[in-house]
Amino acid sequence: MTERCEVAVVGGGPVGLAMALQLGRLGVETTLIERRSTFTRHPKATGVHAKTMEIFRQWGIAPTIRARGGLSPEWMSVTWVTRVLGLHLGTIDLLQDTARIQEAMSHSPEFLAWCSQDVIEPVLREAAEHQKTVRICYDTECAGFVQDDEGVTLRIAQNDRERALHCRYLVAADGAHSEIRSALGIGASASAAFDHHINVCFRAELAPYFRGRRHMMWWIANPDTVGTLITLNGADRWIYQIHYRPTEISSVDFTPEACVRTIRRAIGADTVDIRIESILPWHLDHALATSFGSDRVFLVGDAAHRFPPTGGFGMNSGIGDAHNLAWKLAAVLRGQAGATLLDTYEAERRPIAELNIRQSMINTHRVDEIGAALNPRDVASIETDEGAALRRLIAEKVLNQREGYWSQGQQFGYVYESSAVLGDGTAAEPSTISDYRKTARPGAHAPHAWLIRSDGERLSIVDLFGDRFVLVTSNEDQSWSDAMASVASQLGVDAKAVRIGDGGEYREESESWLTLYGLTTAGAVLVRPDGHVAARFPDAVSDPVRTLSICLESILARMHQRTARAVAGAVSAA
Ligand SMILES: Cc1cc2nc3c(=O)[nH]c(=O)nc-3n(C[C@H](O)[C@H](O)[C@H](O)COP(=O)(O)OP(=O)(O)OC[C@H]3O[C@@H](n4cnc5c(N)ncnc54)[C@H](O)[C@@H]3O)c2cc1C
Repeated sequence: MTERCEVAVVGGGPVGLAMALQLGRLGVETTLIERRSTFTRHPKATGVHAKTMEIFRQWGIAPTIRARGGLSPEWMSVTWVTRVLGLHLGTIDLLQDTARIQEAMSHSPEFLAWCSQDVIEPVLREAAEHQKTVRICYDTECAGFVQDDEGVTLRIAQNDRERALHCRYLVAADGAHSEIRSALGIGASASAAFDHHINVCFRAELAPYFRGRRHMMWWIANPDTVGTLITLNGADRWIYQIHYRPTEISSVDFTPEACVRTIRRAIGADTVDIRIESILPWHLDHALATSFGSDRVFLVGDAAHRFPPTGGFGMNSGIGDAHNLAWKLAAVLRGQAGATLLDTYEAERRPIAELNIRQSMINTHRVDEIGAALNPRDVASIETDEGAALRRLIAEKVLNQREGYWSQGQQFGYVYESSAVLGDGTAAEPSTISDYRKTARPGAHAPHAWLIRSDGERLSIVDLFGDRFVLVTSNEDQSWSDAMASVASQLGVDAKAVRIGDGGEYREESESWLTLYGLTTAGAVLVRPDGHVAARFPDAVSDPVRTLSICLESILARMHQRTARAVAGAVSAA
């Protein structure tokens, strides 16, 4: 018998789980297939960007992620030393720059969280399984698929038995070596592997060696080892990332005993008690699929793109993909949108993947500037008087590494351009990698401002978004909200209006949301379910019902493309 669902997700890594969770929140019948019997054992990703935390906040899991991650803000710095008990070379203290911290706090209700992937995955799974329409199958493999005009039929293998699963759409979250991508004949433009590492996850009480210093990352360079010590929980769980050259030593030579010896040298103490949990050889490279899908199959996460982790954009971008695609699939499946809305997934996410590849490579080159100085001959003297020049050189290069740790602009500043956005002709206000310029230009992340609800609860304007279209207007004019109710019912689209102002359900705390969003009290902004601005109407329009109706029909691909472009142009000109 063939099983059925609306969307099948192959891959239960962080991106597949995020995809299933968001589809479930939107009521989509979803089956997730994962060949492993449990979560990833190795921590891999550790930094959860503020943008991802905003998504987690909408899903109600941000407090759990922060609590299970366990790292308090005083760890938010990165240091360069010869050994933990050796000489100090330089530090980037993310909290020292109070002006920048204040600014970052104004960007979002959330801030960077430090929580490793092996801790994130169970939280995502638990939340996904909480959704009535989500089924998660571990120990189950997708062994092949065929697609036709109606949907996709998967061959599912479990315990040496095969069954069929039919879905309307298939999401491939099956990782960097995506078999689904290969089966579709989609290639990837990929670099060669350019840096090799061994990541050792271990338990140890290191507090006595820190002597009151707290840093989430310790870059280590001495004649015995060059690597990075990364805290996972600010207490007893760590990664030591060892740089090695496969031409000189094989990854199999990094036995648990050899790793313990190396970690002790990184710390500078021969007796520290170390219990190894896992050892993962990996390399740096980047890759971008030539297409993000074919017909009814979509690639997300590492299946679509891969970056070096300098900047921490792998998992974070993949979760962004899932957030972008889920509402579009739900809208098409519910008959609220035309199927061509799905084309906007690649149109919107590919430029982000390209940006993240470019910036991850810039970050990598900056790290390599220090690496290049660490040739064995010079490192031999780094802890002696002779090494003073090298130590000064590293201290200078450390100053150049900041963008890798401050990426507010890269996380929040991108602006989607596609037919799922109704441009208003305003010029882009570009963010830089570190500096995010808040803008409510259509396509942008709807910017954060604090609000107070009538029951006294403090919440962010971004908390209003997440599962439907939301039209935000001032409390002084009811015509927009009446129009939204009427258009939502006429078109059968999941949409609502929210009014902000004194005497209403929400009022602003201090920052003027109207100024931030570029509106008069007679204007309105329409925000998509993924929290990006769909359309902005700075002032009153003569016919709000017609305006909203045309706008939603255009964004949801319910009109012929050429007509949509013409009316969208007319609406934005009005
Ligand atoms: C050492 C290291 C450090 C990293 N640091 C960071 C960081 O700080 N920040 C960051 O954002 N990213 C980081 N990354 C990258 C991050 O780990 C990946 O981007 C992320 O795991 C991608 O998630 P995914 O769900 O797309 O793929 P994966 O996590 O690879 O999951 C794919 C899943 O699909 C399953 N699967 C594959 N084929 C099938 C099949 N046919 N049937 C059933 N199941 C299948 C696999 O078993 C796997 O569980 C790091 C990676 C490494 C290796």
